[in-house]
Amino acid sequence: QKAIAVMTSGGDAPGMNSNVRAIVRTAIWKGCRAYVVMEGYEGLVKGGPEYIKEFGWEDVRGWNSDGGTNIGTARCMEFKERWGRLLGAQHLIEAGVDALIVCGGDGSLTGADLFRGEWPSLIKELFENKRISEDQYTKYKHLNICGTVGSIDNDMSTTDATIGAYSSLDRICKAIDYIEATAYSHSRAFVVEVMGRNCGWLALMAGIATSADYILIPEKPSSSKDWRDQMCDIVSKHRSKGKRTTVVIVAEGAIAADLTPITPDDVHKVLVDKLQLDTRTTILGHVQRGGTAVAFDRILATLQGVEAVNAVLDSTKDTPSPLIAINENKITRKPLIESVKLTKSVAAAIQAKDFKKAMDLRDTEFVE
Ligand code: ATP
Repeated sequence: QKAIAVMTSGGDAPGMNSNVRAIVRTAIWKGCRAYVVMEGYEGLVKGGPEYIKEFGWEDVRGWNSDGGTNIGTARCMEFKERWGRLLGAQHLIEAGVDALIVCGGDGSLTGADLFRGEWPSLIKELFENKRISEDQYTKYKHLNICGTVGSIDNDMSTTDATIGAYSSLDRICKAIDYIEATAYSHSRAFVVEVMGRNCGWLALMAGIATSADYILIPEKPSSSKDWRDQMCDIVSKHRSKGKRTTVVIVAEGAIAADLTPITPDDVHKVLVDKLQLDTRTTILGHVQRGGTAVAFDRILATLQGVEAVNAVLDSTKDTPSPLIAINENKITRKPLIESVKLTKSVAAAIQAKDFKKAMDLRDTEFVE
């Protein structure tokens, strides 16, 4: 009987609870034992029944409508060290777990794949140091790993959507709708900063959905003109046609054509100095992560949870770790490590301001 554990790791994202719920229930449905690891990799490093808990069917009841992650998440520096992963391996074996599904971002999934790759040498060391028995050494020869992507940023290559991104987008749109009402009343301009790190997806989609006047994202700095002139031309045109509101959305990683970062303060200053607009700035911050997941994320997380358990049960020691994705509305399996590598290459190209390379890499598809 296989024992499958699930953990959430990295930044929390709405829909993670649906993913955990689906994994726990599918595992039980398929005749496996289901476990949760509390507090991400920290729970693996600390170990014991307080952190690695067997879960039953009822333990995840009602989780579809809970925001955040009920099993906790953390950033764990110890797991980046070999000794931390050695403890993690020992604790999983002590709990009797032989498969791990990690729901997190690229960092968490890199850690998961590294853990799987190191597993034979970790358990050898544990056995040689008498930290596990010969029976355990023989029984836990392989660790199956599978990744599901929980991230509000929608920044993972090879999948069309990450768990949490559409919920965050919905929250941003609602917040901008509220802002529109007050902006209209006072005929004001608002600069709204949204999350996304190296990825402008949240800013771009929110801009389309709320018909923002101007959007600044990391991937496409205004090239034809200085962004200040271009933004002022567009905003002036809108105002000249009687528009009483101005909304400019700034992604947290936005940069200018001269490759310098653009902050909400920079945008605010331009709107005041050049257009004399009564301007306010709103940094949406953590409200973008909070609250319940939208239906799409609940469904995505549930379908991907089912597929994650299926993938674990299909895995052999020679199968590369899978990442559960969605492509053209179908739940798919992608090679985890290649997906993570590609995601990191895109982020590195953006940081190196090589936008063409970033775009080319984003369009890369795997032939499986
Ligand atoms: P988000 O996209 O929300 O930031 P993430 O999964 O990328 O999520 P990270 O902080 O990068 O978030 O990683 C979460 C945890 O995963 C880390 O605290 C660490 O425990 C583990 N981890 C990340 N990178 C590695 C690595 N290279 N080796 C081992 N463990 C890692």
